Amino acid sequence: MAVAAFEDAWLEAAYPDEECGCPVEEWVCCGVSLQIHYEPDGSMEVFADTGDWDHTFALKASTMEAARSEAFAWARGLPCSDDITGGPANG
Ligand SMILES: [Zn+2]
Repeated sequence: MAVAAFEDAWLEAAYPDEECGCPVEEWVCCGVSLQIHYEPDGSMEVFADTGDWDHTFALKASTMEAARSEAFAWARGLPCSDDITGGPANG
């Protein structure tokens, strides 16, 4: 309840990173699983997993909310996100 709801994204899990203790959140947006790692200095790392392929990228954001928005914007900008969400993954 503490986390605001988004139209097309929801929080799957939140926990401290086992190595460095930074907050980590796992979101699903547009069928893409986004694991956001919040470094205390504002450098965020996002691990995105569509099921077929994955991609790690860095973000610079001053707040967790800003980092979420950036990560969701990235996922929303992907082509074929409908294909990712459902259906058999053979092809
Ligand atoms: Zn860390």
